[in-house]
Amino acid sequence: MNKNRLLQKSKVLQSSRRGALMIRFLQILYREGVKTIPDICGYTGMSTPTVKKMLDELIEEGLVMENGLAASGGGRRPGLYGLNPSSRQIVGINIGRSEIRIGIFNLLCESLHPIEIINGGIETLNDIRPALKAKLEELIDSSDIQKSTILGAGIAMPGLIDTKTGISHSYFTDVKKPLATIFTETLGMPAYIEHDTRILALGENIYGLAKGKQNVLCLNIGSGIGLSMILNGRLYTGNSGFSGEFGHITVDPAGEQCYCGKIGCLETLASGKTLVNIARREIHSPASTALERQCGGKPELISLTMIVDAATNGDQYATTLLARAGEHLGKGIATLIHLFNPEMIIIGGKMAKAGKLLTDPIRNTMNLHTIPRIREDAEIVTSELGLDAGIMGTIALVMENTFTSN
Ligand SMILES: [Zn+2]
Repeated sequence: MNKNRLLQKSKVLQSSRRGALMIRFLQILYREGVKTIPDICGYTGMSTPTVKKMLDELIEEGLVMENGLAASGGGRRPGLYGLNPSSRQIVGINIGRSEIRIGIFNLLCESLHPIEIINGGIETLNDIRPALKAKLEELIDSSDIQKSTILGAGIAMPGLIDTKTGISHSYFTDVKKPLATIFTETLGMPAYIEHDTRILALGENIYGLAKGKQNVLCLNIGSGIGLSMILNGRLYTGNSGFSGEFGHITVDPAGEQCYCGKIGCLETLASGKTLVNIARREIHSPASTALERQCGGKPELISLTMIVDAATNGDQYATTLLARAGEHLGKGIATLIHLFNPEMIIIGGKMAKAGKLLTDPIRNTMNLHTIPRIREDAEIVTSELGLDAGIMGTIALVMENTFTSN
């Protein structure tokens, strides 16, 4: 199967040199949004008549459309060009341990329907492949799109994935094939795979607060603690794709044992799983907390979302739990700042919904442990993409692969 369906469907893009230049145009419009002909001349160094002619051909192909007029710079207002959002589609799939989120998107990363959730994930279903295939077919059947205009599926999944071989060391270990091949066969379209934490940095870099930034660290703080990095404008993977295991740096050598087998990892002090365990253990103590009422006397029902919601509603016990986590995270982030000198740190994941209740303690501790000049460079923000960051990252993954290869 030709990996690049864009080329498969378009005669004009198949011609080698001209096609490559046109893909470059599409890449600019995808990454930068609507642009004028002079803008595109500026990006490509090509002449106005050539750019105009090639844009006309892309309009003819249905891939580009005229998009109103730019603001006046004094003279005649130049026309704007953008991707024709409905000309192609992308499937985004975020595979979790206990649920799967799936959606079909247009070229502007707009979902064509509410995101569908499959109850059951990679650790709870025997084999997720039939469920994925059935759900995708159902979505295509209920829409007015053709399967052949879908550029591909971007898939985010947990576990250790070797970026060199594409083989997962955590799932499908009996199938000695790259994950991308496994899912290309399952879905009948080109599939691209990325780690579920690393995909967040890609989503933020293309669609979120890190748009256009070169050095950004994205923290995924949910049940675990993960880190993904855009360094020098590129997604950093590490030698084999195992970078970003920030949750397993040692912060308390005399602390508790982590599920990874080591002692005193950051996750044993600050992950969502840890906060939930602490709350479940402490809930019968005299401290009065809204959590006690919410779980109806059954501590096993307490979840991270419950803790975050209680804190945002003013519950002191839940607020203290988050503050303690924030302090530990702040120490770890101080180390990251010294190592990477980032321009932005984005806090995402389920715990990020707590906003300032989490970021204020992080900032306070970080200030104590960093060299001021390096710290001043780094802006700390919470993700605006929220829990959709993962699935948006999968769209970016397909777009990056489609609009850069020829
Ligand atoms: Zn650990």
